Amino acid sequence: MSTPNIVELYGVTKAFGALTVLHDIDLTIKEGEILTLLGPSGCGKTTLMRIIAGFEPTTHGRVMIEGADVSYLPPDRRPVNMVFQRYALFPHLDVFDNVAFGLRLKKWPKARIREAVQHMLHLVQLDEYGNRWIHELSGGQAQRVALARALVNAPKVLLLDEPLAALDLKIRHHMLAELKRIHQETGTTFIYVTHDQDEATILSDRIVLMNKGCIEQLGTPEEMYAHPGSLFCARFLGETNILTGPVSACASGLAHVAIGAGTVTVPHNGSAVAVGQNVSLAIRPEALQVRRRAGAADAVPDNALDGVVEDVVFMGSRVVYSIRTPVETLKFQETRSVDGTMLARGEEVRASWRPEAAVLLTR
Ligand code: ATP
Repeated sequence: MSTPNIVELYGVTKAFGALTVLHDIDLTIKEGEILTLLGPSGCGKTTLMRIIAGFEPTTHGRVMIEGADVSYLPPDRRPVNMVFQRYALFPHLDVFDNVAFGLRLKKWPKARIREAVQHMLHLVQLDEYGNRWIHELSGGQAQRVALARALVNAPKVLLLDEPLAALDLKIRHHMLAELKRIHQETGTTFIYVTHDQDEATILSDRIVLMNKGCIEQLGTPEEMYAHPGSLFCARFLGETNILTGPVSACASGLAHVAIGAGTVTVPHNGSAVAVGQNVSLAIRPEALQVRRRAGAADAVPDNALDGVVEDVVFMGSRVVYSIRTPVETLKFQETRSVDGTMLARGEEVRASWRPEAAVLLTR
């Protein structure tokens, strides 16, 4: 049986005055998943999140949660809670009272509140911190309190708006693992907003990549990385090499594209391409094979470019090279060194790739 949808958006459009910032968004979010809204600054992620939470009305369109139209309900009447970038904790209350706040509003009996808050503090691994003041917490601890305060209300959907942005890199990675654990333990649906593709890739079951108020692509992190549907997606998720040229022939599921003086063959997977049409090819740095070139130059075969190593960056477990070719400077990355040794700046090399390693992009 397929997982039911918990949030459904139909034709959601949002304008601030003359500026339309969300265009006709249709999106369904499955119960229990971690779905990330990813995209550059200003693409509309937070606005879409605030519309789901009820902090912002739509200009057009409907928001459904658990099959009910909540488009006109205020935030406190929707089964959602939101965690903000800057925690938004109450400084005049200690940790316990911050977490208990929502339950006191609901007039829960004292003993039940104590039990629920202790359970939540245990979940976020702050059992001993109930009496601490907020200013006595580290950033990571404050964000855990914010999570506990949201989750104690048992929301059907937890909305997280760049919750790790204020934390430094090391704590961010630790908190990502914590978020995954808490998600598993609670089974709550998470909708997460970030502009950081690493966070999105590590955390998400599915990613919605947004661009200028529209959904550019939606898929699992693996699908999005392996099969970007556009230049924007190929560039936004991970490093990629882009080659551009006209289609010279097209037959049997393969397009032949003129790149510099050579030809590149690439599967076109049914996407309509015409001879003469300019297209782009995306090739991930780890999909290249690179070998040293010695002696007189032979003819460059298809799916290959000759070049010179321009830069070598040693990053511990991997090495990233820049290879200048007559067409583009290619990024190449490997986890071991070529022939047991690293390539050096100035070395002449040939970079090649299998046709299936390239993705044909028409937009
Ligand atoms: P960031 O990653 O920088 O937070 P975002 O993708 O979350 O960006 P939004 O905050 O949703 O983007 O903003 C989308 C667009 O809507 C931006 O152009 C922003 O300036 C505009 N916008 C957001 N809120 C308002 C508002 N209250 N009034 C007018 N314009 C707004």
